[in-house]
Amino acid sequence: TDRTALGPLVGAIDQGTSSSRFLVFNAKTAELLSHHQVEISQKFPKEGWVEQDPKEILNSVFECVEKTCEKLKQLNINISNIKAIGVTNQRETTVVWDKTTGEPLYNAIVWLDLRTQSTVERLLKKIPGKNKAFSKFKTGLPLSTYFSAVKLRWLLDNVEEIKKAVGDGRAMFGTIDSWLIWSLTGGKNGGIHCTDVTNASRTMLFNIHSLEWDPELCQFFEIPMEILPKVRSSSEIYGLMKSGALTGVPISGCLGDQSAALVGQMCFQDGQAKNTYGTGCFLLCNTGQKSVFSEHGLITTIAYKLGRDKPVCYALEGSVAIAGAVVRWLRDNLGIAKSSQEVEKLAAEVGTSYGVYFVPAFSGLYAPYWEPSARGIICGLTQFTNKKHIAFAALEAVCFQTREILDAMNKDCGIPLSQLQVDGGMTNNKILMQLQADILCIPVVKPSMPETTALGAAMAAGAAEGVGVWSLNPGDWTAVTSERFEPQLNPEESEFRYARWKKAVLKSMGWETA
Ligand code: ADP
Repeated sequence: TDRTALGPLVGAIDQGTSSSRFLVFNAKTAELLSHHQVEISQKFPKEGWVEQDPKEILNSVFECVEKTCEKLKQLNINISNIKAIGVTNQRETTVVWDKTTGEPLYNAIVWLDLRTQSTVERLLKKIPGKNKAFSKFKTGLPLSTYFSAVKLRWLLDNVEEIKKAVGDGRAMFGTIDSWLIWSLTGGKNGGIHCTDVTNASRTMLFNIHSLEWDPELCQFFEIPMEILPKVRSSSEIYGLMKSGALTGVPISGCLGDQSAALVGQMCFQDGQAKNTYGTGCFLLCNTGQKSVFSEHGLITTIAYKLGRDKPVCYALEGSVAIAGAVVRWLRDNLGIAKSSQEVEKLAAEVGTSYGVYFVPAFSGLYAPYWEPSARGIICGLTQFTNKKHIAFAALEAVCFQTREILDAMNKDCGIPLSQLQVDGGMTNNKILMQLQADILCIPVVKPSMPETTALGAAMAAGAAEGVGVWSLNPGDWTAVTSERFEPQLNPEESEFRYARWKKAVLKSMGWETA
């Protein structure tokens, strides 16, 4: 192919919990041309604490952009064809920085972090009836350690530097998208302090109907509103890149990673759903322009708003904290394998957990239980059990957790899903995908373009007003399936194992009473 006649290209920064990536797509064909990826370190300074260094995150993004541009040059692709950049990010992770120095004032508190369990308890006492769902109609979310407001409350209570910076009017709060966009558009020299509606909807400070920060909730959490970013749509020009190989290119798309995957999987119709298997696991179902409130433990979130004058679309979401993270834990904490792929190999060698059930409630349990006091358990052990069975049980746990949120989704939506569209790093694991089809008793389908999260962000950036190199007309794009996994297990066996799993989940709950 003539690489000089490619036409407009769009880049996507994908800042995840495990790694950062930069990917460049052809805007006409959605073909991925090149990318670069850098793993991010995670710090666990105390039990239940999970932190990352915001500077390391930012530098990894710079490195990915520069390395990808070098790779493109080697392919004879002119990087001046990159017309826009989209940002997609791990959600809820909370950063506070000093706008005069551009320096973070503390490590980022990662979404999985559990340190706010006592903050949540204290806040619950302020609510009549200790009702966790007190702001469900405004925010779509239950009060939980998961969302940014409680993490920000913790930072304001516990970090002197931050208290001082807020007092002096030097502090800025943001989720990772805000931190990156502010830094990339100039930082202390005029950086743009903004976020998009999807990321804002994960803070618990945002009214998902009026699309504004909610003064009452800010008062409840005692958050000074002047430190919050300006909320914009998911597709519009926020600012221009101020340094590096792509200086001057507009940043014009921003979506939380799960929203971006929904867009990248082309789930634009009411009732379309996708499940992403990364560090955690997130099943989102598009509910169109109406916000649906779950009766079964799911949350209501903003799917996207693809332009200033475009309507907002909502999604029902089932969030599972630990999916790929359990594989990483087997590798890093138990050392039973050297890589994620080796965990897959171990599991494949036995093909059964031999009655072992592993509930990886490392960060409590999210959907559908929302139980911060749950802790991980492995049960059903015998003299016969070995590490291969435990590896298998860990993969099976990811499938059971998905089954629980899919069941809840089917109950809330009324129309059961007939197949499950999947993506994310863990979907490279074929054993897992087959097991998932077996446990759900419906087919599991993978798109031909696996980088759906980045693709979604690139689509939003390319379609922005003033960029206009990517059309988002429904019908222009449909997901192309590359792999399909059909259920092979008999449904009775599947039900039996699922019932056992549920018994194990009950045992994991109330372990750590707050
Ligand atoms: P995130 O977006 O959360 O950073 P990714 O989508 O990049 O995550 O997926 C990375 C996760 O997937 C890691 O937790 C890793 O352990 C897991 N993973 C990757 N490959 C495999 C595999 N073959 N088997 C099991 N888990 C895997």
